Amino acid sequence: MKADWFDLEMEFEKWGQAGNQACFWWRDDDLEAPGPRFERLLELRRDAPLSLAVIPKMAKPQIAENIKAYEEIDIIQHGFSHRNYETAPSKKSEFGINRTCAQVNRDLSIGKEILSDIFGKQFLSVLAPPWNRIAMVHSRCLVDSGFHALSRYGNHELDCLQNINTHIDPISWKKNRAFTGAGIILENTVRTLKTKRINAEYSSPTGLLTHHKQMDEDSWKFIDQFIRALQSNPHVTLKSIREIIRLKSQND
Ligand SMILES: [Zn+2]
Repeated sequence: MKADWFDLEMEFEKWGQAGNQACFWWRDDDLEAPGPRFERLLELRRDAPLSLAVIPKMAKPQIAENIKAYEEIDIIQHGFSHRNYETAPSKKSEFGINRTCAQVNRDLSIGKEILSDIFGKQFLSVLAPPWNRIAMVHSRCLVDSGFHALSRYGNHELDCLQNINTHIDPISWKKNRAFTGAGIILENTVRTLKTKRINAEYSSPTGLLTHHKQMDEDSWKFIDQFIRALQSNPHVTLKSIREIIRLKSQND
């Protein structure tokens, strides 16, 4: 089944009728250095809050210059080197079962130090693991290394820290790494929102996940339209991950 922009508006109406606002946040992955695609992302964003998941080992300090004027941009940690340590048929992961806890701890700590040196207060101790994966056995490392939150794709939840996940991804990774198509993405968005509404999870944020280095022209166009649709709707609020973490810790 496919949905269209009208279906999305209708779902937002239902949130409005119940006196609620649907909360969204936005994460973009794999940032290493500034470049034309990164500039396009910043331009497209206008004033929307954005979390940039940076790969510490490759992070170029020039990024900090490009974003320091924008307090609605946060930097979060995208693994350490974005290297896959698993072997097929296991799924790709930097922090999978082939690594020891000591290795994972070391990577997380060094990565955190690098990003904190480059970005100062714009960096938040949040891990978005590469390929959205971290083995259960390593989850304790996150707490030991001082992380406040973990961000993956889907509805994974760990008890030991905040989970701020993403749900909407315009790229079809399994098929051809091209744009999935508006109908499928909008259907996924409407379904995600409907589930939250039915379960009365009104404050649970829905995450948009983008990859500026990978997106094709259709993906860029869709993201532009999607962000505009969120920004112009009175029943939607776009929040920064910093704000979401603050609100969640107040409610705990
Ligand atoms: Zn990545």
